[in-house]
Amino acid sequence: MATPLSADALVSALHKEGVTVVEHAGWRTNNRNHKGSWGPVNGVVIHHTVTSGTAATVSLCFNGRSDLPGPLCHGVIAKDGTVHLVGNGRANHAGSGDGDVLNAVVAERTTLPSPNENDTDGNVHFYGFECVNLGDGKDPWPEAQLDAMARASAALCRAHGWSANSVIGHKEWTSAKIDPRGFTMADFRARVATLLGKQPTSATKPAYQPFPGTAWFKKNPKSPVVTAMGRRLVAVGCSAYSDGPGPQWTEADRRSYAKWQRRRGYTGSAADGWPGATSWAALKVPYSS
Ligand SMILES: [Zn+2]
Repeated sequence: MATPLSADALVSALHKEGVTVVEHAGWRTNNRNHKGSWGPVNGVVIHHTVTSGTAATVSLCFNGRSDLPGPLCHGVIAKDGTVHLVGNGRANHAGSGDGDVLNAVVAERTTLPSPNENDTDGNVHFYGFECVNLGDGKDPWPEAQLDAMARASAALCRAHGWSANSVIGHKEWTSAKIDPRGFTMADFRARVATLLGKQPTSATKPAYQPFPGTAWFKKNPKSPVVTAMGRRLVAVGCSAYSDGPGPQWTEADRRSYAKWQRRRGYTGSAADGWPGATSWAALKVPYSS
């Protein structure tokens, strides 16, 4: 539950999420607030427009139709990934849907009940993005558009402290609708979650192996790190291997490393073959574990 964002806060949130925003003239005062409540807001509904062409779609979503006054959403997301803001406040986009779905969104459940009742006014509770697509299952969804859709959704989730489970498709709100078609909402929510950084992701691996410490080598390790080091020593022409290199630290590794140290200008005990931090960094051993 949350108070709707102001126009300025919405624009700022979209910019921060890397969205290209176009403010359609008059959008800040275009709403249906005189016809009903706007907020508390609980989530985002994604639509396809069943139209083509950005300008015509933006105009339609700003003005509405004879049977459905505008705004028909908050933002139109074009094929090229631009987000055209057309409404600020209550908009005619979600219509009636299932209160059980709203409860699931509020609870940020990972699975939604199938909508089978139209007992709740979604225009109170949801931001809406109309995404330009014919909705025939064939009209492609360009990557730029999908990326912008995910970023726009993530912007609202981040601004309100919601998870990706607060983003639903119109067809998940009401059984009377089929939009959006051409991708799954599960995949879409995964994209939003990735943007929000809430999905488990593997940490970014460093390019090079951090220095394990001289003492580590003196314990005669058996490790992919030793193999990776040995391969680098061979590559730079400092091999004392008769076979290998392999994962088991051996005297051949030490003698090879000593060649590398002498190459680096070390002498005496500083070139004894036991790796040190500076020579290790210079060797650029690929990260292996
Ligand atoms: Zn829709």
